[in-house]
Amino acid sequence: MLPTAQLTDEERSIYEWQMWVPDFGEEGQRKLKNASVMVSRVGGIGGIVAYQLAAAGVGRLVLAHGGLVKPSDLNRQLLVTHDWIGKTRIESIRRRLLELNPRLEIVAVDENVNEENAAGFVAQADLIVACAPLFPERFAMNRQAILQDKPLIECAMYDLEAHLTTIVPGKGPCLQCIFPEAPPTWTREFPVFGAIAGTVGCMGAMEAIKTIAGFGETLVGRLLRFDLRDMSFRTFNVERQTNCCICGDKS
Ligand SMILES: [Zn+2]
Repeated sequence: MLPTAQLTDEERSIYEWQMWVPDFGEEGQRKLKNASVMVSRVGGIGGIVAYQLAAAGVGRLVLAHGGLVKPSDLNRQLLVTHDWIGKTRIESIRRRLLELNPRLEIVAVDENVNEENAAGFVAQADLIVACAPLFPERFAMNRQAILQDKPLIECAMYDLEAHLTTIVPGKGPCLQCIFPEAPPTWTREFPVFGAIAGTVGCMGAMEAIKTIAGFGETLVGRLLRFDLRDMSFRTFNVERQTNCCICGDKS
């Protein structure tokens, strides 16, 4: 069944070039318009995910990102600006997204995801993109995505490397099947370039668009790892673990 809201003439003119993609078309565009996507942390990766989804015409974004803009955000968090240093990040993010797409509906929340608030955030969205720097936030989003039967795109980066996968409950592993525990080397602050965030963010946005519109082949059951130091891209098969604490047979 097609989503109810139709495209306006203005939207048809704005999204014309992507509607030329034959297996996407106007039906795919209507699905994006009717979709609500949650992005957990809208920083280096999540900012690019949100920007690309806003450009592509997703109807509603639910954004969770706390804190104030710091100078050290500016090399990669492209939705926060120099004039906003010391002010709330989420307001700068909202302002930049609406400059690009004033038709966008935004639920912007000045806090980060935790075990307590994750359920409420996930309930507001059709699809989740997990871009938080720390694993407890990612695990909280994964748990709720499985419980609420919603797809989740996982994007992460370190140095010149990144990984990406798409989780669809019942169709492959969840995040905790792939990473049973937080990697011990994972830290809040780490070496990275903005171009790495942008690369994996654009890929994550495309996985979200394909998942919502139902075309192409997503990374369900596969983990993509790449290293831009030597431009190597590798894809690994990943399987659901029957003893997983989140999606396993006994959980
Ligand atoms: Zn699992």
